[in-house]
Amino acid sequence: MQKNVAIIGGGFGGLSIGALLAKAGIPVTLFESDTDLGGRAKCIEKEGYIVDLGLHAIRFGNSGPAARVLKSVGQSLEFAHKKDRTSYVYQDGRLIKRPNVIEDFMETELVPPESRQALLQTVFAMVGENPADWYGKTLLEFVEQHTQDQHVKRFFRLLGFTIIAADIETASAGEVMSFVKNAQMAEEPIAEAAGGIKQIIDKLRKVIETTGGEVRTGCRVERIETDGARASGVIVGGKLHSASAVVFTPPVQHLFRSIGKENFPPDFVSYSENLEPTSGVSIDFGLSEPITELEGNIICLDPVVLGSFPSNYDKSLAPKGKQLSTWLMVIPYAEARKGSGLKEALESLRGFIRKLYPIFFEHVEWERPLAYLILDGVHLKVGQSRIDRHSIQSPYVSNLFFVGDTAKGDGCSGDIAFDSAIKAAPMIHEFLK
Ligand SMILES: Cc1cc2nc3c(=O)[nH]c(=O)nc-3n(C[C@H](O)[C@H](O)[C@H](O)COP(=O)(O)OP(=O)(O)OC[C@H]3O[C@@H](n4cnc5c(N)ncnc54)[C@H](O)[C@@H]3O)c2cc1C
Repeated sequence: MQKNVAIIGGGFGGLSIGALLAKAGIPVTLFESDTDLGGRAKCIEKEGYIVDLGLHAIRFGNSGPAARVLKSVGQSLEFAHKKDRTSYVYQDGRLIKRPNVIEDFMETELVPPESRQALLQTVFAMVGENPADWYGKTLLEFVEQHTQDQHVKRFFRLLGFTIIAADIETASAGEVMSFVKNAQMAEEPIAEAAGGIKQIIDKLRKVIETTGGEVRTGCRVERIETDGARASGVIVGGKLHSASAVVFTPPVQHLFRSIGKENFPPDFVSYSENLEPTSGVSIDFGLSEPITELEGNIICLDPVVLGSFPSNYDKSLAPKGKQLSTWLMVIPYAEARKGSGLKEALESLRGFIRKLYPIFFEHVEWERPLAYLILDGVHLKVGQSRIDRHSIQSPYVSNLFFVGDTAKGDGCSGDIAFDSAIKAAPMIHEFLK
């Protein structure tokens, strides 16, 4: 029988590994429980708007992992906008221009003039470090080796926020360093896909389906069937779909919904169940008319908020004369787990938007509030960085592979999903030989 791979999940991770394997001639069947693909990056069309799940930025543009996956399967990633957009930080009650390149740091109003030298020295010191020496240490430990300046520390929270880890007391310094280095080398540190994330989802699906693979939506994998230390396949609709290898792509916190804990040692089970994600809320708005021409993002650290008007840089996302706006608030996982935590965050996010744009809610035609216990699968704090996470090939169930944003990939958020697929594809290939 020809060797085949069953993939659980049709988000960034599942579609990427599906496309990479299918393109290499390996038969794949991808099972997605939802009726649509995309997972936490699912895109909808609503009243003439194209709406991603909150803002979905692509790090490092053409040199980032999303573009690398697409390139590997013969596709390209088209971006939406011109390179030099200005983003703003809401700090001390006003919007302050965020410096784009290190050269701008000496003039940034985000820190007072007397702190700028220390800021520049600390950032340069970071660029000179090897991230591998710092994955297990906090951003605060790094900063305090160079300065005690409180303004510089506050600025480093902004750098932490680039990997959704704005708490410098816990954020992995190595992960932030790795981001800063990649951003420095990239032509575009942050970019957005033209026409929304749908572009990536559609292209990857097409590759799978035109290279002999199969995508089954509305198909939940009930269980991964094991036979000793191997998976014999997946149970779907009560029937066994035999597979030579199984790829699990949902957040690993949900692994034991699909496979018994008895297949793994207790420390593996405990790490998976207790891996801390990032949590938060997002609200997408359709506005009856444009209320600002701002093309960049609005960032705030207290509370942790990211806002944008995507139709300002990509006109295809909203009907003519209207505006799409999207806002995200990140809250600690412990708060999100409390019954009222996410509900309160939605109210607080609305209050923040109102403070910034008093006329905003007069123009809202529709809104889509969403709450996520798992926003990014892994919060990149010390103990959860790339060196700490499970290996891609399970040492316990030998033909089970982990891909997705809680897997052992580089980067943060969706990049981990793309990068883990890039790393997993040759391993699975080798395993099937
Ligand atoms: C509001 C918001 C904004 C974000 N912004 C960004 C951003 O700007 N940049 C960025 O890089 N990342 C961002 N992220 C994170 C990014 O969306 C995720 O990291 C990424 O989508 C994760 O992809 P994945 O494939 O690992 O997992 P998922 O997207 O969760 O995919 C797993 C899939 O598996 C399916 N599934 C689960 N169980 C089963 C089963 N038993 N059988 C079949 N199917 C199953 C699920 O339905 C899901 O579709 C954001 C996330 C959110 C929520």
